[in-house]
Amino acid sequence: MQAVILSIGDELIMGQTIDTNSAWLSARFADMGIMTIHHKTVPDDTSAIVLALKDACTLSEVVVVTGGLGPTDDDLTRHALADFLKRPLDLHPPSLERIRAFFKSLGREMPVINRIQAMVPRGVEVLDNDWGTAPGLKVKVGKALVFLFPGVPREMMKMAERDVFPMFQNHGESTVLTEALHTFGAGESTVAEKLGELMRRDRNPLVGTTVSKGVVTVRIRSEAVTQMLARKQLAVIVKAVEARLETLIFGRGEETLAGVVGKLSEKMGVKVTTAESCTGGLTATMLTDEAGSSLYFVGGWVVYSNAMKTRELGVPASLIEREGAVSQAVACAMAEGALRQEAADWSISTTGIAGPDGGSDEKPVGTVWIGLGHRSESGIKSKAECFQFPGSREMVRDRAAKTALNMLRLALLK
Ligand code: AMP
Ligand code: MG
Repeated sequence: MQAVILSIGDELIMGQTIDTNSAWLSARFADMGIMTIHHKTVPDDTSAIVLALKDACTLSEVVVVTGGLGPTDDDLTRHALADFLKRPLDLHPPSLERIRAFFKSLGREMPVINRIQAMVPRGVEVLDNDWGTAPGLKVKVGKALVFLFPGVPREMMKMAERDVFPMFQNHGESTVLTEALHTFGAGESTVAEKLGELMRRDRNPLVGTTVSKGVVTVRIRSEAVTQMLARKQLAVIVKAVEARLETLIFGRGEETLAGVVGKLSEKMGVKVTTAESCTGGLTATMLTDEAGSSLYFVGGWVVYSNAMKTRELGVPASLIEREGAVSQAVACAMAEGALRQEAADWSISTTGIAGPDGGSDEKPVGTVWIGLGHRSESGIKSKAECFQFPGSREMVRDRAAKTALNMLRLALLK
């Protein structure tokens, strides 16, 4: 079974709004074994929408259209559907009542222009909207089942969950199961090299990689006639990928680096602190983005100036003078200073040149020293590593914070 998704709106085609509806819908379809073969973005133009509807209905058995069901003059999807079906628009009184009631629940009168949202092409089924004003529409055209929903992502999602997916949950042709394994610390090509023939395009499960903000994700897609078979195949390939990538993999699905570091810390009963210069608190932000982080994160420092590095963390001024603020010695002194100030077991520190200015031949923009401190029975110890991150200031800071978290993760795993 195949699907086509149409997104209607000038703002989408002009790049002012990102089309998230298509991505969400096709991911959900993929989960139930329905392949999306086209995403099409169409402007608010009746004839363009009619043409797109015509194409979509000849190409696939399921068509989902989002957007253009609003009350204003640029919302033309219902008119286009009426044109396409060659049927008139009739008032649907129950929808008019619902829209009136919706406004009443907000303590307002229904504006006159909203009446258009209760107009329905003759013979088309109405799908109630319990989350907004525009009702959805559903109609069979040849072998295609066409759903039309408002563009507001939340309303569209609620309605698709209720009216679309249950129809196809057990449609029986095949099942697709997916898994995402996230890695950090190696580039996409290194990951691909390690995966080797597992990534051949003719294989099932199919293995591919994507990159986002320094995280290389291995995506595995298993297709089979039954759920059980798809799950079995998937498990075999997940194992094979894990065997090749080992600790490069930090998590799966919705897991984040900071979340994984948190879980490890919590499990081991250790406390973590941070001492940040060039990342300006980003590492602490990532750690505290995770619910429950107070169980392992005690707090940290943002020590941007040399004076503050000395005053707050006891980094000797002479050391900064001699080695420079961006140095192995200072990264270590920051990590150790944090552990001396605060009763934590592990500390991470960052000091570097985020750019765009401030680089030199010896220490170009993107140079970051990351320190890792550890308190054990034998006292406080630290080590630091130098990294050269590419890209903008934002990228350098993001990669530095994630690399710091990853260093801690790898240390905890040992
Ligand atoms: P509409 O149903 O065309 O009136 O759109 C209502 C709101 O949903 C507008 O703010 C749109 O920008 C937004 N919207 C419409 N289509 C999409 C889409 N495909 N992805 C994300 N937002 C959308
Ligand atoms: Mg619109």
